[in-house]
Amino acid sequence: MKVLKFGGKSLANGEGINQVIAIIAKKYFEGETISVVVSARGNATDDLLDILEEAKKGNKYAAALTEFKKYQTNNSEAALFESEFSILEKLFEGVSLLGDYSEKIKDQIVSFGEILSAKYVTSILNGKGLKARFVDARELIKTDATFGNAQPIDAETEKNIKKAFEDYDGISIVTGFIASTLQGETTTLGRNGSNYTASLLANYLDAEEFQNFTHVDGIYTANPDLVSDAKKIERLSFNEANELANFGANILHAKTIIPLVEKNIPLRILNVFNPENKGTLITSEQTNEGIKSLSILDNVSLINLEGRGLLGKTGVDARIFKVMADNNISVSIISQGSSERGIGIVVNTEKASEALTGLEKEFETDFYTRDVNKITVDDNISVISIIGQDLSTFHKPYTALIRNKIVPILFNNTSTGRNISLVIKKPDLKRALNVIHGEIFGVSKKINIAIFGHGLVGGTLIDQILSSAKTIEEKKGIKLNVFAIANSTKILLDKNGVKENWKSQISEKGTSYSIQDIIQFANDNHLENLIAVDNTASKDFVQNYIQLIENSFDVVSSNKVANTLSYDFYKKLRNALEKNQKNYLYETNVGAGLPLIDTIKLLHLSGENITKIKGVFSGSLSFIFNHFSVEDKTFSEVLKKAISNGYTEPDPREDLCGNDVARKLLILARELDLQNEFDEIQIQNLIPEELREIPTDEFLNNLHKLDGFYEKVKENQIKGNVLRYVGELSGDLQQDKGNLEVKLVPVPESSALGQLKGSDSIFEIYTESYGERPIVIQGAGAGASVTARGVFGDILRIADKN
Ligand code: ASP
Ligand code: MG
Repeated sequence: MKVLKFGGKSLANGEGINQVIAIIAKKYFEGETISVVVSARGNATDDLLDILEEAKKGNKYAAALTEFKKYQTNNSEAALFESEFSILEKLFEGVSLLGDYSEKIKDQIVSFGEILSAKYVTSILNGKGLKARFVDARELIKTDATFGNAQPIDAETEKNIKKAFEDYDGISIVTGFIASTLQGETTTLGRNGSNYTASLLANYLDAEEFQNFTHVDGIYTANPDLVSDAKKIERLSFNEANELANFGANILHAKTIIPLVEKNIPLRILNVFNPENKGTLITSEQTNEGIKSLSILDNVSLINLEGRGLLGKTGVDARIFKVMADNNISVSIISQGSSERGIGIVVNTEKASEALTGLEKEFETDFYTRDVNKITVDDNISVISIIGQDLSTFHKPYTALIRNKIVPILFNNTSTGRNISLVIKKPDLKRALNVIHGEIFGVSKKINIAIFGHGLVGGTLIDQILSSAKTIEEKKGIKLNVFAIANSTKILLDKNGVKENWKSQISEKGTSYSIQDIIQFANDNHLENLIAVDNTASKDFVQNYIQLIENSFDVVSSNKVANTLSYDFYKKLRNALEKNQKNYLYETNVGAGLPLIDTIKLLHLSGENITKIKGVFSGSLSFIFNHFSVEDKTFSEVLKKAISNGYTEPDPREDLCGNDVARKLLILARELDLQNEFDEIQIQNLIPEELREIPTDEFLNNLHKLDGFYEKVKENQIKGNVLRYVGELSGDLQQDKGNLEVKLVPVPESSALGQLKGSDSIFEIYTESYGERPIVIQGAGAGASVTARGVFGDILRIADKN
């Protein structure tokens, strides 16, 4: 025989009750032998308790009672419940007159929830031609007289149940939750007690399985309402289920499992609304990996007792627990350091002030002697328990939390079971759950990205991310979610990530913003693993980096400004990164996507002595001199070609002045821990002085004025040499400062620099071990798509670390 139990929500009017009847009927007609235990339908128990409270206060409750009756009757014949309704009315009347009720009366009243439910189900089944009978569990389950939470008397109960089921071959519809004393007074088994009724029945009838029908698909790795990636757990052992039950997984009453373990009866959690689903199966078989599941305790408070004088003093804990026991307060977590200077306990919030008053009284004299300095209560906390977690791998979820700036207030593990509880600040709860869940279940890790600047590079990057997100999730288990796109005036925010139509969305829905708004948005939506990407060229935006870093963002940037401001700022930024354990990657600052900065960083870190760096750092100037040196054209003709190919800035003087090359050189120098400032760089400006200050149009109309100077340079060039505009870092690079020069120089046509083509960049890195033959990195060093790829690479590198 199988025992089926249906919960209140499954039995609710409408789809629920119809499904329940259909499930029972199907099994019946397929010839299965079943017994059914039912809870009260819908919110019956709570409804009855509410009416009871009103009656006690002398308030009017007639309307609520009528509503209750209407719901429970659900269009069936009113006569069915006539006697129950009339007893209920009398009981409420009595309470109303007395203005009070006993626990015994309360049990009598709530028992009608289950009685009405079982009668109702029986009558519908009979109406459909099934052989079914109503069974009042009060005649079977005998208990002590602890009303509200009665304890069954085993021998008596077993005898009654066996006898009642001996020769009945139809379906028994048994009331859950309710029982009676040997004297016949109604008792109940505690809230959610119907599960217990069903497992007792399963035990005494030696059932082959207990099917617990609920309104969810089974037991989850975390509450799906809080963690969208939560997964259903297919199998659990009784031990593991027991851990879950103790930690508030409300599907299981803590006592339910014991009778099942005794007889080795499998328990299956099923969903009335999704009968095809196999649910979660709980058996005595131990699963190998051990389950992991997250459960939370909400509405709890942390009480802290602090005192210098507590060290080595005996009996302090005993006194604390005595206060708790005297006030009937259950302690869910206790934590005490070996210094004994501070003791923390977690209790239900509703009991916290009582606990505080009690402790203050108990430790009054210790305050006076200064052995105790203060006792505080913090209501703004939650507890997350990782069930199935031991300390050997605990560092993983723990580091993930720290990386996301969630620092637990305390943590606590049991020496017997495998579970660890963390006390955290309440506002961190949802994010913390998601971070831990992502970490321990290896489901896709979500990386939440805010992109600043959506021009050529930024726009290309967004499109690159959107088009490869799916593959990256499949291959690497990393889910890239662009939750913000902004330019200097407007922002588009979407916690679920922007879509291909982001351009139209930003113009339709974009709003003005401040950095604080984005930080707030990320907090409010519990976004973890945050990365801010700066694709602007803005001097102002850089001022936000530190604030972002302090608010848990890693930073990726193609913007060079942050690395070329004062050395002071450079250091300040690095200190903030270190303090907050955040990353800042900017591979595209020099040579676009070419793996240059990373290479230099690695060489330097490994102790390799870099002696010189020299190269053509600018794509536009590379193009200009590669062509001008060998072609029979004037400088202005080549420059015009570069402009029309889009290789230069709109005002080509920004390239020609040499500042961009100088900035790149400074960035490389600082990678080697050199402390140079921008104004220490010797820069050869390629623009004749009289053309430097004039407006752009005027400059563009007078390009021929550049020709005379460059013609001379070309004429003086030794045969076999070509011109290159190079950046060069030299000097004793072990000192605090190096020589930084940006200049136009002749080089042999046969050299690596001389052979450069198109608009490529080239970097020669000279080191002690490589001697005269430098490491050469060469390739497309500019362009929106290679730069965007480089930025993307930095994002993935950070995502990998996270
Ligand atoms: N009806 C009772 C309650 O709501 C028992 C149960 O549902 O299991 O607590
Ligand atoms: Mg690069």
